[in-house]
Amino acid sequence: MTLTAAVVAVGDELLLGDTVNTNASWLGGELARVGVQVVASVMVGDDLARMAVALRRALEDAEVVVVTGGLGPTSDDITREAVAAAAGVELVRDPDLVQELKDRFAAYGYPMPADVLKQADVPVGGSPLHNPVGSAPGLRLEIAGRLLYALPGPPYELQAVMAVVLDELRARSASSLHTRTVHTSGLGEPAVAEVIGQGVAVPEGVALAYLAGGGVVRVRFTGSDDTVVRRLADRAAELLGEHAWGRDDERLDEVVHRELAARGATVAVAESLTGGLLGAALSRMPGSSATFRGSLVVYATDLKESLAGVPGPLLASAGAVSAETAGALAIGARERLGATYGIGATGVAGPTEQEGQPVGTVHLAVSGPGDAVVRSLRVPGDRDRVRLLTVSAALDLLRKQLVLDRVVL
Ligand code: ATP
Ligand code: MG
Repeated sequence: MTLTAAVVAVGDELLLGDTVNTNASWLGGELARVGVQVVASVMVGDDLARMAVALRRALEDAEVVVVTGGLGPTSDDITREAVAAAAGVELVRDPDLVQELKDRFAAYGYPMPADVLKQADVPVGGSPLHNPVGSAPGLRLEIAGRLLYALPGPPYELQAVMAVVLDELRARSASSLHTRTVHTSGLGEPAVAEVIGQGVAVPEGVALAYLAGGGVVRVRFTGSDDTVVRRLADRAAELLGEHAWGRDDERLDEVVHRELAARGATVAVAESLTGGLLGAALSRMPGSSATFRGSLVVYATDLKESLAGVPGPLLASAGAVSAETAGALAIGARERLGATYGIGATGVAGPTEQEGQPVGTVHLAVSGPGDAVVRSLRVPGDRDRVRLLTVSAALDLLRKQLVLDRVVL
C-alpha cells in the first residue's frame, strides 16, 4: 500500500500570486519518488482559523500532511500556532532550541530580537526537525495516527529539512513510484498522444501523462515497477522515431552537445532574432568548448553582410527575414567561424510585423558536410516566447541533421 499525503502551502503571498508555489511541485515529485502519493495540495493564507481548518481537512484526507511556510519569527508566521490548534494541544518552549537560537545569533554577532524565541515553541507531543541552513526548525507531530510535518517556506531550507523526512517516509512506505519520461519535439501534443495511443498499451497501475511546454512535448510514465515503466518509455521512444530526442533529465542542448562530441564535430551560429540566446544554449554544457565555436549576433541587417557574409544582393532581393538569408547565415557561420556545422536564424520576434511578415515568422538553416537544410515556421506567442521557441527549434534542426548525416568526421 502506498502512503497518501496532503500538502498545505501557507502564505498570503502565494494566494496573491507574488510567489509561485514551487514548494508544492517540488514536494509532489520528491514524495512520489519515496512512494508517497500526494492526493491533495492546497494553499492557505496567513490566517490562524483558516489554517487550522485546512490542516484538519488535510489530516482527514491523507496519512501524511506536509505543511510549508510560516515558521519564521515574524508576526505573520503562525504555522506553529495553527498546528497546535489543529491538534488541540498547547505550545511549549523547548529549552534546547532556545539555547540553539541564542548560540546561533551569538555566533553571527547579532543581537537577538525577542520574537525569534517563538521559533523554539513546539506543540506538546511533537518534536523539532533540525534546520541545517536556517534558524527556523521544522516540526514533526503525530495526530491520531497521522503524521504531520511542518517545514520552512524558503525552498532552500525546505529542501534541506525534508531530507530526513523523506528518509523516514521512504522507510514507512511499502512501495515507491518510478517515472520515465521521453522528450519529443516537432510534433504537437495531440499528434504525440495519437502515436502513443495507437502503439503503446498502458497496463493498469501505470499513469501516462503528456506535458507540453517550450516547444517540447514530454511523455511520462509512472508506476511501481521500474522495468515495466522503462519498457513503456522504450516503446514510446521507438514509435516517436526522430521526434524523440531524449529521456528523463536530459536537455536538448545536452543531447546536441553529446551528438556533436561523438562525431568530433563543432557548430557555429549566425543569429539575428535570438540576439545571442542560441549561442548561450550551445555553451550551456560544461565542456562545450569542444563542440561550440562561437556565435555571430548579426542583429542589424548590414552586419549580416559584413560579419556573416550574406551577399548584399541576396539581402536586397530576398530580405533579411527569409529562408535564403537563413541559409546564407548558416553557410557564413560555418565558413567564417571554421565549424563543421553552421546554424542561421532569422525571423520576426515582434511585437510588430517586419518586412510585411507576421510576428513569429522564423527561418532556420543548418549547413554542414551534407546537404544544407532550411526550415521556415510560424511560432506562436509573444516576443520572449518566439525567441525561446526559436532556440529549441534551431537546436532540434541541428540534432535531426546530425542523426541524418551520421558521419563520424
Ligand atoms: P522565514 O523565516 O523566511 O520567514 P518561513 O518558514 O516563515 O520562513 P514564509 O515566511 O512562509 O516562510 O516564506 C518565506 C519565503 O519563502 C517567501 O517569501 C517565499 O519567497 C518563499 N516561499 C514560501 N512558501 C513558498 C512556496 N510554497 N513555494 C515557493 N517559495 C515559497
Ligand atoms: Mg516568514
